[in-house]
Amino acid sequence: MDHPPVRPTLLGVPFDAESSFARGAALAPAAVRAAYASASTNTWSESGLDLATLLGDAGDVDCTGDHAAIRDRISARVAELVAEGRRPIALGGDHSVSFPLVRGLAPPRDVTIVHVDAHPDLYPDYEGNRFSHACPFARILEAGLASRLVQVGIRTMSGAQRATAERFGVEVIDMPAWARGARPVVRGPVYLSIDLDGLDPAFAPGVSHPEPGGLSTREVITLIQSLDGPILAADVVELNPAVDTRDLTARVAAKLVKEIAARMLVG
Ligand code: MN
Ligand code: MN
Repeated sequence: MDHPPVRPTLLGVPFDAESSFARGAALAPAAVRAAYASASTNTWSESGLDLATLLGDAGDVDCTGDHAAIRDRISARVAELVAEGRRPIALGGDHSVSFPLVRGLAPPRDVTIVHVDAHPDLYPDYEGNRFSHACPFARILEAGLASRLVQVGIRTMSGAQRATAERFGVEVIDMPAWARGARPVVRGPVYLSIDLDGLDPAFAPGVSHPEPGGLSTREVITLIQSLDGPILAADVVELNPAVDTRDLTARVAAKLVKEIAARMLVG
């Protein structure tokens, strides 16, 4: 029996009201789409797939109004896309959107979340806010939505977040470990969450919370290409076009989106 075709599909989530410091990520979906469509590049992946006809676009989630209602709309939209047999690639938005995205996916029990970020985003709450962009992975783990959480690129682990990491057995490949050669070993289905500040600001300057000492663009591309299991869904978050330089970070985001879609398409 033939398998149904994989259909990676963009979903814009223009929401930045849970960002603790700078706003601007709500402008990101439009900036990433513009970079993706720019005549300065083309729609081919490094593996030789033309995404022009293979990558869909489901438009943006309505991110106006009450935050709980926005989270519900994000989850519902992801659930609809999955029911249509699509694999969502969400364009954030601040990182708070990952909790409703994963909730909407209703991932299988054996899913591994691979999370690229400078920050663990594991605070039980941040300044009293449980839905801050500093907290999404605490919410995901509490809800039992991931069997494994593997974090890559971390370089701001705090005591409160370390306690969450230890409580839930989070596997943290921080930058010193990465520099020593540690890499995630992942089998089975994956949800991939890429916070662009996981990259070094030299590669991705257009983020709200730049943190020196991070990953290169090439290292993140290689990580995407080397993931073993099917990527069921993904997000690329925290681009802030208001502080970007020559659209460079938007171009990085579009490049990562292309490579994620290409990795989805091979199964
Ligand atoms: Mn983050
Ligand atoms: Mn971050």
